[in-house]
Amino acid sequence: MTEPTTGSNEAWGQRYAAAVMNTFGSPQRVLVRGEGAHVTDADRKEYTDLLAGIAVNCLGHAHPAVVAAVTEQISTLGHVSNFFATPAQISLAEELDSLVFPGTPAGSSKVFLANSGTEANEAALKIARRHGGTARPRVLALEHAFHGRTMGALALTHKAAYREPFEPLPGGVEFIPAGDVDALHAAMGPDVAALILEPIQGEAGVKPLPSGYIEAAREATAAAGALLIIDEVQTGMGRTGAWMAHHLLAPGVTPDVVTLAKGLGGGVPIGAAVATGEAAALLGPGQHGTTFGGNPVACAAALAVIATIREQGLLERTAALGERWATALAAVPGVTEVRGAGLLRGVGLAEGLPAAGEVAAELMERGFIVNAPRPDTLRLAPPLILSDADADDFTATLTDVLAEALRSRQADATTQEGAA
Ligand SMILES: *Cc1c(COP(=O)(O)O)cnc(C)c1O
Repeated sequence: MTEPTTGSNEAWGQRYAAAVMNTFGSPQRVLVRGEGAHVTDADRKEYTDLLAGIAVNCLGHAHPAVVAAVTEQISTLGHVSNFFATPAQISLAEELDSLVFPGTPAGSSKVFLANSGTEANEAALKIARRHGGTARPRVLALEHAFHGRTMGALALTHKAAYREPFEPLPGGVEFIPAGDVDALHAAMGPDVAALILEPIQGEAGVKPLPSGYIEAAREATAAAGALLIIDEVQTGMGRTGAWMAHHLLAPGVTPDVVTLAKGLGGGVPIGAAVATGEAAALLGPGQHGTTFGGNPVACAAALAVIATIREQGLLERTAALGERWATALAAVPGVTEVRGAGLLRGVGLAEGLPAAGEVAAELMERGFIVNAPRPDTLRLAPPLILSDADADDFTATLTDVLAEALRSRQADATTQEGAA
């Protein structure tokens, strides 16, 4: 809270480098305030935030409903520990049971509340271990999966650069090619405790699983007696235009466990593992816990997020704007394809264009925050309240940026020809 509107990006950046562990590289800007889909940096420059804290600020910045819910809760009761319960925690658990598993009888699904995505997946992995015991030591995850950075979730994360410095990781995890049903059948068996998947692989570059794969995963896990865990940390809470991406992409499928975080608290840290059927009863007293999990302030924020999405029809809004925007972006010269659903989109860049990181840096200069999960992909995960005008402004700016890059590439080619 010190000097929130004074200083500069450069001055704060130096203090950051001196004080903060270097796990993220240098921050691109130091942000001092936000409202709706817009943020302001320490140099007073304004940006349209099309990343929303990586799919977190689903209602944008400083949404009045979240501000009011958090203010009211923290001035009433801020924290109680899990020796006690609160109305906010219980109400949120009830909401999540029916949002994640619609149509299932009350009481058949249960929630474990945590503080982040990685913790939600830790809980899911512990449920899988309880299910598997010694008879089912194997856990299957997909190539290019991202499930988090704590040791258990890291064991489920595919990228070697994230894993290798921290090995040995909890054992038994095997990676199979994402979307390959034959490989899934070959790997599945009576010694598998669980399969975990993201319906759209976000960190891998917004890559949806091919249609039919989630259904095949459900059938294969059910036949082998293994759990199906769906990681909706990035894709859940309305991001794709449905409450859960798997509702949209595989409507007939009921997983055993679903994990949530990111958008759930609208900017306040919270995660959840929601389980149904047998999986809902596998963690007993003393087998898992967290001091902050179920904290009433975080739960009040999540309840405000859910109520606002409902009241403002943001699922329909997200689906409609997402569809229209994706069509417009796909028509931009230099864009090869637009992947994803709703307002989680990967924009593929043509070969010969600068790397996506450089394009993202130029877009930042022009007032738009996006990121580059892959060298050929920009990721868009804006607030679900994004206006049509902001979306259209971005399309126009991207068109300019890519046209300039294509022109300078042609100029270079001509110069080289001339020199030859
Ligand atoms: C971001 C993410 C996580 C990790 O969440 P954290 O809150 O950063 O721990 C896990 N799974 C998926 C699919 C994610 O996108």
